[in-house]
Amino acid sequence: MRRFFLTCLSLLSVIAFSAAQTASVNPNTDHYIYQGYLSDYKLALASEAFASIDTMLQTYLPQTEILLPREMALVSLDQLLHDTDNDATEPFYRFINTRMARVLEDLDRPVTEGLRIYKLYNDGFIIKSAKATVAIDLIPGGSNAKPFITDSIIYGIAGKCDALFISHWHADHANLNIAKSFAARGKRVIAPKDLWVDVDPMIQPLAEHKETDIVFEDLDLTLHVLPGHQDNVYNNINVVEFHGVGTVAQTGDQWYCCDMDWIDRVHLKYDIDVLMPNCWIHDMERHLRGFAPKMIITGHENELGEHSIDHREAYWITIKKMELVSALNIPYVLMTWGEWYDYKK
Ligand SMILES: [Zn+2]
Ligand SMILES: [Zn+2]
Repeated sequence: MRRFFLTCLSLLSVIAFSAAQTASVNPNTDHYIYQGYLSDYKLALASEAFASIDTMLQTYLPQTEILLPREMALVSLDQLLHDTDNDATEPFYRFINTRMARVLEDLDRPVTEGLRIYKLYNDGFIIKSAKATVAIDLIPGGSNAKPFITDSIIYGIAGKCDALFISHWHADHANLNIAKSFAARGKRVIAPKDLWVDVDPMIQPLAEHKETDIVFEDLDLTLHVLPGHQDNVYNNINVVEFHGVGTVAQTGDQWYCCDMDWIDRVHLKYDIDVLMPNCWIHDMERHLRGFAPKMIITGHENELGEHSIDHREAYWITIKKMELVSALNIPYVLMTWGEWYDYKK
């Protein structure tokens, strides 16, 4: 009995000692000694790994052929982002904000020919021509209380765009504060039917969920909204035609429902240069045949939301899915947050 009591006592001491160690500051961090400081160690590892990935991605830039070092960086990023211990940690915030700050800076660089396509968090894209800069599904990510991207960076990016197009109301695509920041500058926001009705004259939900053309004369472009769905949610597929320069299409969260008949025929009406499909769209091959784009840039990888990690949609899964449709011979560029690609016809 006494022996049992002593064993319990020593166990409790060990637990108390460990807790004290975890809570206290590791005195040996500067010497890279982490024994006994598990959470400290994991943070240091994540910090080092995110930094290495960032360097690797800047060295091996997006192109139609994914070189092995770049593929390794993206798969390593999958591993980091699928370890939920890394969610909402300092290394993650530093990584994403460093990359978004580069977008903010690059938006000042003029585009003289073709289209520069930036990939932002989740399914966000910015497309810049010589005459216009438009954002699709631009969001800060995270919660209102603690957004992934700092206000100064995300509102700085918003301030350099001329218009905002929203696919659907889900929070990983639509953010009212961002939309209001466009409206406050006199920039138009085109939203799906029933979203943000009567909020601001510059925030314009479609009157009907049907194919709609909206001309932006000042920006020398036409927005063609195609009436898609994510199950029963209205999901605008935004086809942006930069007159004489190129046409891009972003599919939002297109998913099943009732749209395949007309999606099969999109290419008969629109000459799509670059398609940005959600990487987990239910039938990639059929959508690619329907849109028949000249190039693909997938979106929506690694959404760090409520989904469990099997629906965070890793880069390695996109790589595998695109191998399945390689017979279509459509070049594709796999990008992560804070990268861009110059498309020329
Ligand atoms: Zn959605
Ligand atoms: Zn989504």
